[in-house]
Amino acid sequence: MKECLLCEGVLSNKPSWQGFIGFEKQQVICEKCSNSFERTDIESKTAIIVSTTSLYAYNDAMKNYLQQFKFLQDIALAAVFQQELYDVLKGKSNIVPIPVHPNRRVTRTFSQVEALLDYAKIPYKDLLEKRDEVSMGEKTRQERLAMKPLFELKSSVQIQPESYLLVDDIYTTGTTLHSAAKVLLAAGAKRVEAVTLIRA
Ligand SMILES: [Zn+2]
Repeated sequence: MKECLLCEGVLSNKPSWQGFIGFEKQQVICEKCSNSFERTDIESKTAIIVSTTSLYAYNDAMKNYLQQFKFLQDIALAAVFQQELYDVLKGKSNIVPIPVHPNRRVTRTFSQVEALLDYAKIPYKDLLEKRDEVSMGEKTRQERLAMKPLFELKSSVQIQPESYLLVDDIYTTGTTLHSAAKVLLAAGAKRVEAVTLIRA
């Protein structure tokens, strides 16, 4: 008997993931937990990112999910939104995950965004890395943010004059996505759009 990854309730075996997309449906959460997430599909536009689509509200259910996924390092939870992310990202090219966020004190053993994409069977390009902060010494967080972009291109990465699609787990202030977008645009990307699972 399979259990819901979030509440440990028993899962029905009713198939809901259609076979035509080429990989087997894995029902991992129950109907009740599924319904506790609030789908919003908010879209925003800025001068730097032509379109950012965020799929879910940051409600209590989502806060609990993110807590368990990111901070308790429960990688299996990447499967919870595999269908939703697949539906939004299928067929897109130049998908670039935001690397593990800088300035986080919690040690992470895996990249949450890459795990979400892996479970959704979405191919991506790992082009960015967070800047090494060691050399920035004793500066305050504000000073560091003001002077340096958060990310840089990995060595030997070539950016094409094409459209790129950044993916992140949560959009809060937009600073992270915009910093990454500027790096891609400065390196020759034609335009940058973004998809996030959550909008805070
Ligand atoms: Zn459940």
